[in-house]
Amino acid sequence: MSSECLFCKIADGRIPSTQVYNDSHYYAFRDINPAAPTHILIIPRKHIEKITDASKEDAALIGNLFLTANRVAEQEGITDFRYVINCGVQAGQSVFHIHLHLLAGRDLYWPPG
Ligand code: 5GP
Ligand code: ZN
Repeated sequence: MSSECLFCKIADGRIPSTQVYNDSHYYAFRDINPAAPTHILIIPRKHIEKITDASKEDAALIGNLFLTANRVAEQEGITDFRYVINCGVQAGQSVFHIHLHLLAGRDLYWPPG
């Protein structure tokens, strides 16, 4: 946990959010500025700044992040969607706590912008 991190604060309730899923290792909530009709962020409670900072000991945590996201998608009744992880400023990362974007509810184009 990082006391100054926005997503650590969201995960532990110090900053309000619209919760979608919650357990002891993960938290999922609706993006404040949605890029699609469904835009959910799934985060590990563990503070890791970016995906390339994940270590071998985080292998299960990262794997289960995707399984948790699958569960969120199922809970939302979504079968067609896109997962996005931005890594680094040039790739669009603005919050430095690992988060998986779940985007759905409209046609999603390739390649992304
Ligand atoms: P990134 O650009 O780092 O990949 O994604 C960060 C996401 O967090 C953005 O889509 C942004 O809209 C979302 N976001 C930033 N601040 C907040 C907030 O305070 N609450 C919520 N729910 N989402 C946020
Ligand atoms: Zn954090």
